Amino acid sequence: MNFKDLNLNKYLLSALADLGYTTPTTIQGKVFSVVMSGADVCGIAQTGTGKTLAYLLPLLNMWKYSKEKNPQILVIVPTRELVAQVVEAVKKLSTYLSLDVIGVYGGTNINTQKLELENGLDVLVATPGRLYDLAVAGAFKIKGIKKVVIDEVDEMLNLGFRPQLRNILDLLPQARQNLLFSATLIEEVEELMNAYFDNPVKIEAAPAGTPVENIDQVVYEVPNFYTKVNLLKLLLAEDGTMTKVLVFAATKKLADDLFEQLEPSYPGAAGVIHSNKEQNHRFNTVKQFKEGTYKFIIATDVVARGIDIAEVTHVINFDVPQVPENYIHRIGRTGRADKKGISITFVTEKEQEPRQAIESLMNFKIPVTPLPADLEISSELTEDEVPKVYMKEIQVKVPKKEQRGASFHERSAKNSKTNKKVSRRDQMKKKYGKPITRRGKK
Ligand code: AMP
Repeated sequence: MNFKDLNLNKYLLSALADLGYTTPTTIQGKVFSVVMSGADVCGIAQTGTGKTLAYLLPLLNMWKYSKEKNPQILVIVPTRELVAQVVEAVKKLSTYLSLDVIGVYGGTNINTQKLELENGLDVLVATPGRLYDLAVAGAFKIKGIKKVVIDEVDEMLNLGFRPQLRNILDLLPQARQNLLFSATLIEEVEELMNAYFDNPVKIEAAPAGTPVENIDQVVYEVPNFYTKVNLLKLLLAEDGTMTKVLVFAATKKLADDLFEQLEPSYPGAAGVIHSNKEQNHRFNTVKQFKEGTYKFIIATDVVARGIDIAEVTHVINFDVPQVPENYIHRIGRTGRADKKGISITFVTEKEQEPRQAIESLMNFKIPVTPLPADLEISSELTEDEVPKVYMKEIQVKVPKKEQRGASFHERSAKNSKTNKKVSRRDQMKKKYGKPITRRGKK
């Protein structure tokens, strides 16, 4: 199938040609006609399948220029990075359309955003909290929205945005078209859909839990943390194909620690992002990574979710994600839009359980690659790795006073304050050289 086979207007076709996209991805092909028919859609698709364009293409194809200042299309996404990314995609597709898009998210000045919205817009991309605040402040007319996209719904619910989402859905006009996208169809998503959507047509890009086919997955069985660090260093140094590497770490602390270990060998070529980092730092890191200044970045799950970076050559799971679905999300950062990708996972003995959970979710055993011969196996253990030995509590008997040895007396004598009584007669003798007594005075 070619984009020309879809009933797209010439403006969008030109924009797609500029982008060099000729063939719709599976989800794009499937979603297009259903959205064009006006039905509600529930798309099950991971990032990397081309789902952003899957909803943007039909929506922009249906969009008609109007003098209306209020937005007609609303896209709700869970993170600030995704806002920026979707805005970027809308801008690229609307090169030949006279359409205005604005992105809003929390953590920045709301008044600046209000002023921006006052100038008028057609597409609003927003995170739920800020969107609700702006709607109740009357910064735009939420009743004017005709099409709503809720992207990465499962992630939004994971992040605890359910109340905000419900509040927004309650404010929206009854007559509207809903498009919902989720990587996994969890029960909460179904509930939300049943409550607010009109019999949505379910469209799956790939069954949930199926990783993108064009990703080669391997596992290294590694004894401990420091050997993992050595292995990562070795792979980065020796594998020339690792030009854009996304390293996942479970926690912010681990991400920072790893960065500290690796950065000296790659000054100016390594980045780290997690939710404690400032927004500017986050944007900047992603930008440097996209542009290729950074050879690799270390990221935590939440922040990396949804970030679309073209041509990530390798995803490295420094640890095995505890939630099996997160593995699918992580590795989906590579092998995007029909490009080949490689995913490498470091597994210790302690991580066998989550590994098995992932393998049974995918119904696929990840092949094991032997450790490189020149890998330095570290025997150093982290505090967590040191086996805990529980010893019997031994009661130490303190000897009685008369049984205490000489050393006790020595120390005791040195440390004790002397409180010797000196007679007045001796005091006077010391001072005047001769004993001066009251009696002597007489
Ligand atoms: P998404 O799943 O929406 O995050 O998209 C993943 C990546 O694929 C983005 O960089 C898109 O620009 C790119 N992409 C989307 N659709 C196509 C297509 N039909 N052909 C080639 N690349 C595409």
